[in-house]
Amino acid sequence: MTSEERREELATRLDDVRRRIAEACAAADRDVEEVMLVVVTKFFPASDVRLLAGLGVRDVGENRHQEAQAKAEELADLDLSWHFIGGLQSNKAAAVATYADAVHSLDRPKLVTGLGRGATERGRDLDVLVQVSLDPPGAEGRAGADEADVAALAERVAQADGLVLRGVMGVAPLGGDAGQAFEGLARIAADVRREHPSATWISAGMSGDLDQAIRHGATHLRIGSAVLGPRPTVK
Ligand SMILES: *Cc1c(COP(=O)(O)O)cnc(C)c1O
Repeated sequence: MTSEERREELATRLDDVRRRIAEACAAADRDVEEVMLVVVTKFFPASDVRLLAGLGVRDVGENRHQEAQAKAEELADLDLSWHFIGGLQSNKAAAVATYADAVHSLDRPKLVTGLGRGATERGRDLDVLVQVSLDPPGAEGRAGADEADVAALAERVAQADGLVLRGVMGVAPLGGDAGQAFEGLARIAADVRREHPSATWISAGMSGDLDQAIRHGATHLRIGSAVLGPRPTVK
């Protein structure tokens, strides 16, 4: 596929996604301006990110540190915001904070120190969301903090130098009821907001469940395959 063909394909898919978002916002009686599209570009080359930037995308999401760092470096000439949405190792946290503008996946206290240090060294505040597990207890591959730990974690982020607590993030359980999961996330988000009024972000909704996420108050959608196509298989 030539670059021009790829650009056309991305433009068509992006239009479709923007239309889906607009329809879901209309159905939920929400203003489309309240919902930010973060295009998840993991596994896809930097050249795709560059094409997306040319199509007006400003916010991109990545879930692996090395890949994210390499792309952010290669595309430093573009005016992009990098959202880190994946599992974080505590020994990589400071490094992530040197290029990321937002981290959606803080799920344990240990990460606060590293992210805060990296952000302070960079001299720029980092937006942070506490990832909440929406899986049933004991589910395999469970990511995110237990609901019971969210308040304390949010407080630590709010107190940390270099970090700005923005809200919460959640991933609907595989094969579960996304609407129900996002309803729970909205309730947890409201609890956090009561203590921290500026923590207004709710990062929820992927390619398959963005409509339910919007219905339940999502402010940030993390959309990958609906824009980029099926992800290349991991080598
Ligand atoms: C990959 C990923 C997404 C995007 O998923 P799609 O189904 O491709 O839209 C969203 N959120 C997280 C945390 C991801 O890892």
